[in-house]
Amino acid sequence: MPLGGLGEFGMNCMAVRWGDDIFIIDAGLMFPESELLGVDIVVPDITYLIENRQHVRAIVLTHGHEDHIGALPWILSELNVPVYGTEFTLALVDGKLDEHGLLERATLHEIRPGERFRIGPFTINPIQVTHSLVDCVSLAIHTPIGVIIHTGDFKVDPTPTDNRLFDLHTFAQYGKEGVLALFQDSTNAERTGYTPSERAVRRKFDEVFARTERRLFISCFSSSIHRIKLALELAHEYNRKVALLGRSMMESTEIAQDLGYIDIPDGVLIHPGQMKDFAPERVCVLISGTQGEPMSALSRAAVDNHKHARIERGDTVVLSSRIIPGNEKAIYRMIDHLFRREAHVIYEDGSTPPVHVSGHASQEELKLIINLVKPRYFIPIHGEYRQLRRHAELASSMHGAVGQALMLESGEVLELDELGARTAGKVAVGRVCIDSGSMGDVVEDLVIRDRRHLGEDGIVLPIIAINKLTGRVESSPEIVMRGFAATPENGFLEQAREIVMKTLELSSDEEKGDYGVIKEKIRQDLKRYIVKSTARRPLVMPVILEI
Ligand SMILES: [Zn+2]
Ligand SMILES: [Zn+2]
Repeated sequence: MPLGGLGEFGMNCMAVRWGDDIFIIDAGLMFPESELLGVDIVVPDITYLIENRQHVRAIVLTHGHEDHIGALPWILSELNVPVYGTEFTLALVDGKLDEHGLLERATLHEIRPGERFRIGPFTINPIQVTHSLVDCVSLAIHTPIGVIIHTGDFKVDPTPTDNRLFDLHTFAQYGKEGVLALFQDSTNAERTGYTPSERAVRRKFDEVFARTERRLFISCFSSSIHRIKLALELAHEYNRKVALLGRSMMESTEIAQDLGYIDIPDGVLIHPGQMKDFAPERVCVLISGTQGEPMSALSRAAVDNHKHARIERGDTVVLSSRIIPGNEKAIYRMIDHLFRREAHVIYEDGSTPPVHVSGHASQEELKLIINLVKPRYFIPIHGEYRQLRRHAELASSMHGAVGQALMLESGEVLELDELGARTAGKVAVGRVCIDSGSMGDVVEDLVIRDRRHLGEDGIVLPIIAINKLTGRVESSPEIVMRGFAATPENGFLEQAREIVMKTLELSSDEEKGDYGVIKEKIRQDLKRYIVKSTARRPLVMPVILEI
């Protein structure tokens, strides 16, 4: 039962059940889309697990990215079951649970590739794979009716920077013995060819280090341990001191260093306050904020608003990450500021060698694993609908290797038994928005923007209750206003309510099923009415309640 991550980006979570035993693979979050202003994180609805709480035995993690572990505090606070993960994954989990005061009563079990462990009727064999993060595994799950393999996130990197190789042999071995079902990462199913090795970035970094005459700022995701390691190695080689800027960058570097993933020679690291004591050509700064998050260290440096990081004429700034769709504006705005400061900016622009490579398998790698595993059933996971579809089509075309490709979306139950596989009903799924108040830079930005807007014009919240199963609007919409008052005489509220009802009536079921679309339609229509009738521009933020 996929409880999240199929047909949507992030929030990966799947329940596996045999009789009265359930275990969960991954517990990921989703970062809120812009229409969820002011919400910190989004986690999967776990009603199904709570209703079956006496059967839930454990959570098994494939790796430590937020879209796989970010919902753990939320799930563990509801269901305190043992958590299994690799050493590095658990180190990240540790910090996360500690932050939420859950570490004391959590039970964490470390797993190692190739070392089988049991959960109820299942025997699970973690298989080492490569990805943009370290210590990632696929899971081969032995069940009473056969083996199913869940790939987690992966790419097939033949030259991983940590030399921990992708265990193709074990995949092949399972393929020989027979695999009932393969659940495979679809993130890059639209990309042809192969995803370049993490090492491809080294050529570009080398070139940049050799060419840079003044200070060098490198920004990447704090979880990109491979990238941080590379930057540290080259900084040492090119005789530059390294300062770490940004809390997440410091934390993950520390974990990676503790666990031996990176080895920082003595004297390389300096405190940010010491940067001014070294000549510009002796300094390298690892700085967080690749996505243009306005409160991040790099964004602040770009507008000369950071205590330690001043970006000056001739400095070089490297953005070693992808531009996540939806963040383009913020990122390009930040890059513009950097150009204004006459810095050299290097970002992913399609040129080679690349300054960033993806962590997910492209089509040829997906086909390779399918060929090795030769599953009777193939189910694409981790992706938006089109990616799942493309992935299923790709598998379907491989007649010799795949019995049948099946499509599932979050909430759809796949039943496997001696006779075969079929979809069998649905369980409750959905998104739960969490407002924890301390989830990092992006949120701060949203909150600040909201507050500014609220302070000036107030807020109008149309609240619509939609039945998740039928897609029907359950009652007349409520409209809540703060910091914005319309004269009651002219029947403003009644009319606003009518506008919302009309928008809903004129929308197709498909539009109503896509909350992003329906919210935007309601926002636009209501805003038009408010501006026309009151000449004011409050923040209009439609809220959909799934019931
Ligand atoms: Zn990942
Ligand atoms: Zn992922």
